[in-house]
This record gives sequence, C-alpha cells and structure tokens, in this order.
Amino acid sequence: MKYLAKAATLDYDAGKCTGCRMCVEVCPHQVFVIENRRARITDIDRCMECGACALNCEAGAISVDAGVGCASAIINGMLTGGEPTCGCDSGESGSSSCC
Ligand code: SF4
Ligand code: SF4
Repeated sequence: MKYLAKAATLDYDAGKCTGCRMCVEVCPHQVFVIENRRARITDIDRCMECGACALNCEAGAISVDAGVGCASAIINGMLTGGEPTCGCDSGESGSSSCC
C-alpha cells in the first residue's frame, strides 16, 4: 500500500546509522532495507508514519512525525474498535472528521 506521494515526514540520516537492522525488523511496510551495512529507504511513499522505526533506532538516525494524520487515526480506530478520527473536525458545520 502506498500513501500520498512525497507527503511522509520520514527523515533518515545515513551518517548516524549503525546497521543494527531494527528499522527493517519493525517497519510494517518494508520501507527500509540494509545495504552495505546501512539502512536505505526503498520507497518513502509506503511509510504510514507509525513511528516504530524512529522509536527503535538507538542511533537517532530516523525521525518521523508519528501519531498525526489519517494513517494514525485509522490505526487507532482499529485498535480501539471505534471510529477513526484524526481531530480534523471543522467544528463549524457539524461535519465529522475527514477520516
Ligand atoms: S534502526 Fe537506525 S541504526 Fe539501526 S539500521 Fe535502522 S537507521 Fe540504522
Ligand atoms: S514510520 Fe512506520 S511505516 Fe514509516 S518507515 Fe517507520 S516503521 Fe515504517
């Protein structure tokens, strides 16, 4: 599955990477691979900004704005069994969130 092109906030600094493979292990969408003992992003558009890679990168080589947006809302909705909501309510027209 791909998300909006070039929209992911995922940022990766190869200079800090130790090649520990944690990002490869935890990413649900195979965004990272290891090549020449360092991580490489295969396709940033597959990133759903869950934040697992950044949380598990002890070298601090990865940053991502996790827990925001529709991907997070959908996941939270699945986990809680409730309706997905990302807090995008307009509050004016009475419409529900964009998710
Ligand atoms: S978790 Fe961090 S240090 Fe480990 S391979 Fe991935 S980017 Fe490199
Ligand atoms: S934020 Fe989640 S989906 Fe994106 S690269 Fe990291 S682990 Fe993979």
